[in-house]
Amino acid sequence: MPLAAALLLLLSCSRVPAAPDPAPPTVVLLSWDTTRADALSCYADQRHWRPEVTGPDARTPTADALARGGVRFAWALAHAPTTLSSHTSVMSGRDPHGHRVPRNGFPVPADLPLLAERLSAAGWDSLAVVGASTLSADMGLGRGFRVYDDQVRTRVRHRFEERADVVTDRALALVDQRRQDRPLFLFVHYFDPHSPWDSAPAELRATFLDDPAGTTDPGPLVEAVRAGTLTDEQSRRARAAYLAEVTWTDQQAGRLLDGLRSRGLLDDALVVLLADHGEALDDPGLAPYGHPLDADLPAIHVPLILHGTGRFALPAGTVVDSPVRLLDVGSTVLSAAGLPGGPLGEGQDLAPLWRAAAAGQPPPATPPSFAEATKPIPLQRADAWNNLPFDRSVAHGEHFLTATPWEGLGPRLYRLGAGQPAVEDPAAAAALTAALAAWDAAAPGHREEGMSRETEEGLRALGYVE
Ligand SMILES: [Zn+2]
Repeated sequence: MPLAAALLLLLSCSRVPAAPDPAPPTVVLLSWDTTRADALSCYADQRHWRPEVTGPDARTPTADALARGGVRFAWALAHAPTTLSSHTSVMSGRDPHGHRVPRNGFPVPADLPLLAERLSAAGWDSLAVVGASTLSADMGLGRGFRVYDDQVRTRVRHRFEERADVVTDRALALVDQRRQDRPLFLFVHYFDPHSPWDSAPAELRATFLDDPAGTTDPGPLVEAVRAGTLTDEQSRRARAAYLAEVTWTDQQAGRLLDGLRSRGLLDDALVVLLADHGEALDDPGLAPYGHPLDADLPAIHVPLILHGTGRFALPAGTVVDSPVRLLDVGSTVLSAAGLPGGPLGEGQDLAPLWRAAAAGQPPPATPPSFAEATKPIPLQRADAWNNLPFDRSVAHGEHFLTATPWEGLGPRLYRLGAGQPAVEDPAAAAALTAALAAWDAAAPGHREEGMSRETEEGLRALGYVE
């Protein structure tokens, strides 16, 4: 191009008004409590449950559709098998040694920067609805939200919770109070997959169970496992009852997304689906039918799906096989939404992983992911980080290693794969043992509960503290 013509083009371009900044996306963060990855049908290739026990398969069409249209992380790992600590990792970008919430009932430190604060500061209208009192606003995760709806009214044992259909109703009602001149950040927490498995309507339970009116309490199953008398039929039935709860949650998450779509809120959006931790069923070697005692894969391997729409679309049907950390979710969301200010906490943007997977290229290296159980509480030490004696694990590359100090069990090495198969690889075992020891050596000091005894007793009576 002649110089004069180039200059003319440059001048004419400089006179064109700058295009308005494209509208930022709606950000939707869906958390399903107590949902192990293999409770979703799109995770059928990553199943841990015993194959000799047959029964109904997982059935989660909402989650499957999100995965088909976006990115599914096959090996997403929680850092603690308990609700408040794990959600604090998602919201702060730090594992328990970084955010210092050892388990339920310990309020989030007031100086810990949170995802909702970042999004709200950048102009988002941040709204939340939670389904259980373990995430009550008193615990501190409401910081940064304009509205944090924790009005859970149904008492179940030592806590309050609310069914998924009520949570969806509350979320859609809250969305209708959003600020129309701002992008929306919506966090919705569904508690139903947590035991007892009695939330799903009878007609849905009947598609999983021959006796939908039967017991939903895992207590007798725990006793049966300990007595060595659990039958395959009991095992099959328990899995079916649990999967019915996950399907019920999937239906209600689908109704929520339909409601957002009909309001035009999913035209340009990022939707994240994750779980805070998994659940031990009758998995060998684990404390049966529960989660806080184990850091093995059934307790910490969780679904993580990221789905973008419109200008934020992601490569559809992409599967990332590298292990990733729940603490990376916040940084990934901030980056995908175009926010300046860098990552959240210690999290890393996961975009390079799905770009490599979509292009068929080798994945970039990922850091190790650490996890620790949060019980048995009486065995915590008064002079050290509360969870140091408990079951712990680290995943890195293709390997997974666990240790259980309180039981005197040293490191055991596995392949990071379906069924957590044991492997012999002394070099890998030594490397992961050293990594886990370094993580523990950098743990914070012992944390006393952050409230007065009177307050704690009052909260305990109301079901806010385990
Ligand atoms: Zn939970």
